[in-house]
Amino acid sequence: MNNACFTYSQQLMGTTVSLQLLTENLQAVAAVFNTIEALEALLTVNREHSEVMNINHAAGKHPVTVSDLVFDLIMQAKQASLLPNSIFNLAIGPLVKLWKIGFSGHTVPDSQSISEKLALTDPRLIVLNKQNNSVYLPKTGMEIDLGAIAKGYIADIIKLVLVQYDIHHAIINCGGNVLTIGSSPLSPNKYWKVGLKKPFASATSLLGIIRVQDKSVVTSGIYERYFIQNNHLYHHIINPATGFPLDNELESITIISENSLTGDIFSTILYGLGIKKGREELNKRTSIGAIFVTKDKQIILQNDQHFQFQLLDKNYQLHKSV
Ligand code: ADP
Ligand code: MG
Repeated sequence: MNNACFTYSQQLMGTTVSLQLLTENLQAVAAVFNTIEALEALLTVNREHSEVMNINHAAGKHPVTVSDLVFDLIMQAKQASLLPNSIFNLAIGPLVKLWKIGFSGHTVPDSQSISEKLALTDPRLIVLNKQNNSVYLPKTGMEIDLGAIAKGYIADIIKLVLVQYDIHHAIINCGGNVLTIGSSPLSPNKYWKVGLKKPFASATSLLGIIRVQDKSVVTSGIYERYFIQNNHLYHHIINPATGFPLDNELESITIISENSLTGDIFSTILYGLGIKKGREELNKRTSIGAIFVTKDKQIILQNDQHFQFQLLDKNYQLHKSV
């Protein structure tokens, strides 16, 4: 068995993207990073121009025709936003821009600004026309934000790119989104190892190790992008019902799923549901595995037929949900 691994990294999508291959293939590597760059340029809302920004700039004015990929992602994002009890909301943009969490100038907005922006975040208002791939935001000031799911969608496309280069064993890590492709010839049991980060600790401190094959591992947490003001922590997942960061017993949630877009959507939705309702949801969605990490140092595994978990930090208690 050849234990060599080739790792390539680039700063993209506001994070470090790294790709591990088992054989050197510089053409495939270039195709992967070029694809990410091109997709980021279509989907980002952190630049003045992108296809999504074109839609946002035309809010209250006219529909905008976008590429198939962008239309498809927006359609899936709208569906996820309309699921019962979903805190995922693709129209959250005005609030994300108001809070600026994770960017310079972050601030706790006054309640009037929050109510004004809340009035611009109803996902049901977004008009999608499949005939001509157009998207229309009917109120001035409405903004689509795909920040919670763009990395997952892109990771899934990268898998297709790698397959085109006949690469069937690889791992791609886009910040909180890890997509493992095939099995890992590097370990005896053929599982890829993905670290579960310890909240609010150094980047290399791990709570445990997740082992998977051919699966996506996505984590949403309150410790990645946040600020503290008057002893209160404000993080970057906004509750669309209140306009404030959602506060519950969770520090992070990790979703293990077939594809990374599903992982991204459900990491946000399940974070919003919290443990009790989240477990009920997962009992219905048995194709998704989950790891809840709570503020009081409990780690709860659910639907763990999809992964293995090894606890490393003995300050945490491990539970298996039934
Ligand atoms: P990360 O980007 O760090 O992996 P997430 O996937 O959890 O984190 O996504 C957080 C981002 O999603 C925020 O920075 C913001 O752009 C967007 N967002 C915040 N609240 C919501 C929400 N309720 N629904 C959809 N997207 C959201
Ligand atoms: Mg996400």
